[in-house]
Amino acid sequence: MPEYDDQNIFARILRGEIPNDTVTETEHTLVFRDIRPQAPVHLLVIPKGPYVSLDDFAANASDAELVDFMRTVAKVSRDEGVSIDAGAGFRAVANTGEHGVQEVPHFHMHILGGRVLGRMLPE
Ligand code: 5GP
Repeated sequence: MPEYDDQNIFARILRGEIPNDTVTETEHTLVFRDIRPQAPVHLLVIPKGPYVSLDDFAANASDAELVDFMRTVAKVSRDEGVSIDAGAGFRAVANTGEHGVQEVPHFHMHILGGRVLGRMLPE
């Protein structure tokens, strides 16, 4: 696992050094709007802890962090009107590492919704 770079943009957002459009915040998780939205709803869900990627988070986060993260995904998808119950669904994406073309090396899950998103990968 690469070492966590505490100068990455999301680490700076978490420290309050860069402004963000916060949607909600819990003890372990922050949700804010993507600066270059790809859909009417485009949220970024991030843990507050220093995890590089989804696999790092899944392997090394505490149970409390893992549960908090997933419950927050449920809450914001409902609150933003894109959950199955509240809307018409969404896509959750966690680009990971080089082949996943992950730009920011702090684990984040994209929540995209508000329109039909098309197939995930070109055929
Ligand atoms: P990745 O390609 O790593 O999965 O996605 C990184 C995402 O972070 C991109 O969708 C990009 O638009 C978003 N992003 C990059 N810098 C900032 C920023 O300073 N603020 C916000 N809100 N989003 C950012």
